[in-house]
Amino acid sequence: MNEFLNTPIEFLKGVGPNRAVLLKKEAGIYTFDDLLHYFPFRYVDRSQYHSVSELPQLEGYAQLKGTITHVSEKVVGKQTRLVAKFQDRTGVIELVWFQGGKWIKPLLKPNVEFQVYGKAKLFGSSFNIPHPELVEFEKVKHEKGLQAVYSSTEKLGMNGLSSKGIEKIITSLVIQLQGKIAETLPMSIMRELNLISREEALIQIHCPTDEVKANLARTRLKFEELFFLQLELLMRKLISFRKTGGHIFPEVGLPFTDFYENHLPFTLTGAQKRVLKEIRKDFMNGNHMNRLLQGDVGSGKTLVALLTMLMGIGNGFQAALMAPTEILASQHFVTLVDFLKEMNVNVALLTGSVGKKARRIIHEGLENGEIDILVGTHALLEDVVKFKNLGIVVIDEQHRFGVAQRARMWKKNTIPPHVLVMTATPIPRTLAMTFYGDLDVSVIDELPPGRKAIETSHRFEANRLTVFGFMKSEMAKGRQIYVVYPLIKESETLDYNNLMDGYEAISRYFPLPEYRVSIVHGKMKAADKEFEMQRFVKGETQIMVATTVIEVGVNVPNASVMIIESSERFGLSQLHQLRGRVGRGAEQSFCILMTGIKLSKESKKRLETMVRTNDGFEIAEVDLDLRGPGDIMGTQQSGELDLKIADLAKDGQIVVLARDNARKILEEDPLLENPDHFLIREKLRKIMLSKPNWSSIS
Ligand code: ADP
Ligand code: MG
Repeated sequence: MNEFLNTPIEFLKGVGPNRAVLLKKEAGIYTFDDLLHYFPFRYVDRSQYHSVSELPQLEGYAQLKGTITHVSEKVVGKQTRLVAKFQDRTGVIELVWFQGGKWIKPLLKPNVEFQVYGKAKLFGSSFNIPHPELVEFEKVKHEKGLQAVYSSTEKLGMNGLSSKGIEKIITSLVIQLQGKIAETLPMSIMRELNLISREEALIQIHCPTDEVKANLARTRLKFEELFFLQLELLMRKLISFRKTGGHIFPEVGLPFTDFYENHLPFTLTGAQKRVLKEIRKDFMNGNHMNRLLQGDVGSGKTLVALLTMLMGIGNGFQAALMAPTEILASQHFVTLVDFLKEMNVNVALLTGSVGKKARRIIHEGLENGEIDILVGTHALLEDVVKFKNLGIVVIDEQHRFGVAQRARMWKKNTIPPHVLVMTATPIPRTLAMTFYGDLDVSVIDELPPGRKAIETSHRFEANRLTVFGFMKSEMAKGRQIYVVYPLIKESETLDYNNLMDGYEAISRYFPLPEYRVSIVHGKMKAADKEFEMQRFVKGETQIMVATTVIEVGVNVPNASVMIIESSERFGLSQLHQLRGRVGRGAEQSFCILMTGIKLSKESKKRLETMVRTNDGFEIAEVDLDLRGPGDIMGTQQSGELDLKIADLAKDGQIVVLARDNARKILEEDPLLENPDHFLIREKLRKIMLSKPNWSSIS
């Protein structure tokens, strides 16, 4: 980066030492370059005026011109509310300040024309504008059409760096930019995608000539940000392959063929076959497999995992299957043992609760190669767990395992084992590309035949008795039922009370000896939880009242009704995960979403989506739209990406473009030696050097 852009921010005209301290602290702006990358989040068209009469039809912000006709103060509780009547030729609207009225009041002079800027909101039966921007019309600067709006903080604002103040200092920087901004993208890409130069983009994003230019600037900068992110991810992948290479499995091997031809209880779905082919390719090409397998709940990932592991075994390697909880690990173990009961494959289970002696036997079996498949929890990661020749690791439910844990499994053999990560929470494509950019992605987008779609409905508390009646009739058919309560840290005590109240109500309505009810929650001891869980699994109890501890993976095919209490409090992906606990048998299954009467717009959207569709990928897209990537991937992971302008939720198309272009370049020129790629190489090198934490992984 050139010297000019590296200049400390205090040397910019209009900043000085005091404001510099604030800019660093409040906005992370240390240099000219940082300020230049402090992008506006929207623009206002200051050449346009709306009229008061059109406000009710208008969505978003409006600019008005008129006078103040009346000012009053209302005391509401401890607060004083300032209300001003504002009038133009078409009507009157109230401007309202809930805070800071003291400062505003003296500004509200009569008979002076004001420019007002704000968003009209329906308040009771009439519209008003809360906390508008207000400037005397005389004092408005009229030279510009589009004006950039920046986010600011209270402290910045008090020191003359409200959005307007920030705009002022940025403008003073922007006028010095010409000829100082180096290009980072090759001409070929810019031409092909119609991207404006970096310099023009940085000028236009802050001081756009018009809306078209502002959009061009945003697109160029978003593309650049995503392009380098994708390049970085692909490059990391290349480096890790080159360093190690991967085990080659030349054959599918005997156990695979034997199982496939003689013991497979059903035909694979097209999607399962396709994914197996993709995995097979990875095993043959000498690369190290790092593959993410996405498939909705019930899509048959376990079987794919088994067939994958059998390929490893048939080539003289051992396999491991890791799950996030003991319950899940045991279930996988039982499933595998059952699938393999007529074959000579040795499966072992290792979890935290395996005793010392048994553990030692497992350790031995692993080291002398007697054990072919080890199923377990985190316990597998421990250093004492050593394999004779581990070739393939399958990790179920990625969300609970991080990259670092994957890396620990890699260390279990001199050449790292292949890794297949399975997740049942579909991740929107653009997020998967970015957050798991170092993984290849396979998708099972087809359910096994004959599955009946789960029928989902939304019921209010007032329908409780009808719901109980429905439960009764389903149990009369021999079905089992889950009733799930939310449990959130912030309201833990209250939530436990609700759970217990619910349990009591159900126990009263469904009394012994005819009905038996289980309860499982986080405050119970692990052994008690396990005991209650097993009673339900074995069919000894018909109703399982639980908190979300049952969310992940549990398989009780006879359970056909899922009732989710206070479902407005769950996120979409969680609702979908919970619903996936039913619909596993041959019977028609049901999901009932119970809620209170009052629902926010978002809750309504979530419930509607759940009722409308069973498609996990569709649900994931709606979820992304509602929550944004930070909430879906965890803010920590999201923060790591540090995106300044691109939005993974909204810029999906650009993500794909960036990915395709990055891939194309690395395919043609993996070391970026072509002179045309010099600029990219330089920037990429800087990016990668600035993130040392990656090196420990690859
Ligand atoms: P998930 O992807 O949620 O892990 P599972 O692997 O548990 O799904 O599979 C769900 C159920 O579907 C299991 O009972 C499994 O045996 C069954 N199954 C898997 N593949 C097929 C198939 N091709 N045809 C019929 N049933 C299948
Ligand atoms: Mg599963």
